[in-house]
Amino acid sequence: MENFETLAIRTQTERSQFNEHSTPLHLTSSYLFEDAEQMRAMFSDEIEGNIYSRFSNPNTTELIDKMCLLEGAEAGWATATGMAAVFTTFAALLSSGDHILSCRSVFGSTHSVLTKLLPKWGITHTYVDLNETEKWEVAIQPNTRIIYIETPTNPAVDIIDLEWLGRLAKKHNILLVVDNCFATPYIQQPIKYGADLVIHSATKYLDGQGRVLGGIIVGKQGLIDEVKLFARHSGPALSPFNAWIISKSLETLALRMDRHAESALKLAQWLEKHNEVELVKYPFLSSHPQYEIAKKQMKSGGGIVTFVVKGGVEKGRDFLDKLKLISMTANLGDSRTIATHPASTTHSKLTEEDRLETGILPGLIRISVGLEHIDDIIIDIEQAMS
Ligand SMILES: *Cc1c(COP(=O)(O)O)cnc(C)c1O
Repeated sequence: MENFETLAIRTQTERSQFNEHSTPLHLTSSYLFEDAEQMRAMFSDEIEGNIYSRFSNPNTTELIDKMCLLEGAEAGWATATGMAAVFTTFAALLSSGDHILSCRSVFGSTHSVLTKLLPKWGITHTYVDLNETEKWEVAIQPNTRIIYIETPTNPAVDIIDLEWLGRLAKKHNILLVVDNCFATPYIQQPIKYGADLVIHSATKYLDGQGRVLGGIIVGKQGLIDEVKLFARHSGPALSPFNAWIISKSLETLALRMDRHAESALKLAQWLEKHNEVELVKYPFLSSHPQYEIAKKQMKSGGGIVTFVVKGGVEKGRDFLDKLKLISMTANLGDSRTIATHPASTTHSKLTEEDRLETGILPGLIRISVGLEHIDDIIIDIEQAMS
């Protein structure tokens, strides 16, 4: 058993005395001990076992075990949200005076953590553009402890060469942390290229059906031990119910990602030919500036397409208002196709200047291509554009 699809389906926690075929849901806040000696031994980590669901639960354990196998990681931890995974990673591994080198284009709330929260504890950051590779090494400071990136980025879908960045991080003895939310382990496995930790918002493709929030951190055992220490005592635990949902969803991740990517590529190619469209960006379009790198490290281009309609913000907003099938909502990575306008929503907290530097043009529209029939998706976009 080593293929992705099989691991995603057949990794399962032990069955109970009822011999369930599908993993049961373990809704309990705590666990019974056999005797006082077992209780003592578990609390002192001499033996493994479930004590309390803030620490572990069979459903979160199953999800973590699966994600470790799928990402090729030694260990992992599950959190209540993707942002809890991001914050827990920083809080667990950094101290006052440390510095983070990050790509400029990061998820909106991650930007707020870097710019508004971490400075309170004396943790600073520098942003570098993903595609200006010559600027990364010179931006490293003596106190740089983490290189943090997303690839593809949200919403500009820029790509960085993971192999190159992995080597750079190793050369300077800096931890490489990758938010792999857009690609998922089915499309890209950053640990292969030297990432020390991989973070996910499980809310997106891992659930894939827009039902629950969740986050995952996987990577080197020693780092996960520090993450665990912080998380066990500060409490951003994933609920067993959400873990159960997400773990079940992983069984169909490969199938879903293949369809998301196939439809996204068709949509991107269609948009590229449309004369109302100024610009289209999708990693597997040969016009993408980092197309060759995308081909090297990604199995497919994923499910996110961004484009700019001619006519600026006005036209962009008019387009969104005219959509009939496609949802206007803040999520992505759903079975339903979703359209958003990053400049006025997810990235509205950035200054206009920061937005432009991040590649978020005023009229940029991000489509998270869902699992509906591609013809219906294109028909809706076409009528909204006319
Ligand atoms: C959504 C998202 C997050 C945050 O995840 P939540 O589950 O919403 O907390 C982090 N990174 C990326 C790239 C995301 O898209």
